Amino acid sequence: MKILIVEDEIKTGNFVKQGLSEAGFVTDLVGDGRDGLQAALNGDYDLILLDVMLPGMDGWQILQALRNSGKDTPVLFLTARDQVDDRVKGLELGADDYLVKPFAFSELLARVRTLLRRGKVREPDLLTVADLELDRLRRRVMRGGQRIELTTKEFNLLELMMRRQGEVLPRSLIASQIWDMNFDSDTNVIDVAIRRLRAKVDDNFEPKLIHTVRGMGYVLESPDDE
Ligand code: CA
Repeated sequence: MKILIVEDEIKTGNFVKQGLSEAGFVTDLVGDGRDGLQAALNGDYDLILLDVMLPGMDGWQILQALRNSGKDTPVLFLTARDQVDDRVKGLELGADDYLVKPFAFSELLARVRTLLRRGKVREPDLLTVADLELDRLRRRVMRGGQRIELTTKEFNLLELMMRRQGEVLPRSLIASQIWDMNFDSDTNVIDVAIRRLRAKVDDNFEPKLIHTVRGMGYVLESPDDE
């Protein structure tokens, strides 16, 4: 499996390249947008990791040119934190998934493996668990037909939990994914955020979907799936 990495930040590029190589992938790293597009068009890649801000040509232009030329190589965007519009734009332009920087390598590897396994089919825009619905593109959450207003962090937290429904997520993972903190940081932040999320998503509804797994973390699941 051959992966093209288009990333101009040397540290990030090398970190990703080295990790993927160690995981058994053949990788090429390109630091310039135009070179990236040439490589994407001419090389026979199974997946492209695409940074947004690049010298020469940005990630959007590369993706657009690639799709216009009929190439449907899966693209995973590496976007900056909290740039919601960027993610929507990327998905609308035909990216297959995105990952917010900085990310844990294990998360990148999981996404890469998923994308390679399912080819160009991306995660659905609409995530549902019981009567809870999260629209990734419109950044909208509904439960039982009612709109639920969430802050950006709460939305990201809920999205993470719904994407990985049924999986117990340790606080350390939530911290690194949503707050860019490590485990030694104040994990009370996470408990508080979960409590607020629960108040909005679960308090006025049945069944309860967000559960605490003592000593381990949190899980979102519908009792029907147990
Ligand atoms: Ca960049």
